[in-house]
Amino acid sequence: MEVTTLGNLADSATRTLAAASDSPRLDAELLLAEAAGVSRSTIIAFPERLAGTEVRDTFEQLVEQRRAHVPIAYLLGQREFFSLTLEVRPGVLVPRPETELIVETALELIPEDGPALVLDLGTGSGAIALAIKHERSRANVIAVDSSKEALVIARRNAATLGLDVQFMASDWFSALEDHEIDVIVANPPYVRSDDPALAIALRHEPAVALDGGRDGLDAVRLIVANAIRHLTPGGYLLVEHGDYQGDASRALAEQAGYRDVRTLADLAGRDRVLAARAP
Ligand code: GLN
Repeated sequence: MEVTTLGNLADSATRTLAAASDSPRLDAELLLAEAAGVSRSTIIAFPERLAGTEVRDTFEQLVEQRRAHVPIAYLLGQREFFSLTLEVRPGVLVPRPETELIVETALELIPEDGPALVLDLGTGSGAIALAIKHERSRANVIAVDSSKEALVIARRNAATLGLDVQFMASDWFSALEDHEIDVIVANPPYVRSDDPALAIALRHEPAVALDGGRDGLDAVRLIVANAIRHLTPGGYLLVEHGDYQGDASRALAEQAGYRDVRTLADLAGRDRVLAARAP
């Protein structure tokens, strides 16, 4: 029988994944580590190690799924976000590095040594809410999502991490009383409905977390219009959006009567977050 090494498997999967992924080598190593039950550094350090049939079969199945654009986080069942390991499954959006900007900005606004009320809208896996609670233990963090499935995963993440976040089923603000919230954060769906990525690279993730309607701004509009009633005077709204939606998002906030309306750019220099304060 033909002998196959970990190195051979990683090489051939890298070629298979080149068309489907921006990081085919990394993906191949991560999936092989998963299939072989070893760390990625073992794959890199010992490419000459032999792979048994079971490892090869498992690996092949993972590579096939990745080739069909299943996110690597779903295949591994987890993703790092703001140095927390989160369980991530189909049914929640995969947390992305650019979303760390919202967390960093919120942390600048939330005191370390005193209470604050924070709301995360459409929390998904709980990523933003949990990262904030992890860094600001005195803050009261409420996180809502309309998806029951997402809330199950988010609550499990909170329990695993030992973080006390209050999760609620709510379609944006529908189940919320008029709180006096200090900081409202959201990573809403903002991809335009006609964006081809929805049918290809993003097709395994929940459309409800991605599809923002014709101009991608349906959810941003709803959030900007309603957040102002739930914020304490001078409280902050932080909303993630697409890199071409900065001007339109600022215009929405200015028309709605917010002050200090700004657009924040992510590490790649792209417009990414609307920041605005309630009057
Ligand atoms: N940043 C995501 C993407 O374009 C979109 C996330 C969202 O709609 N909230 O892949």
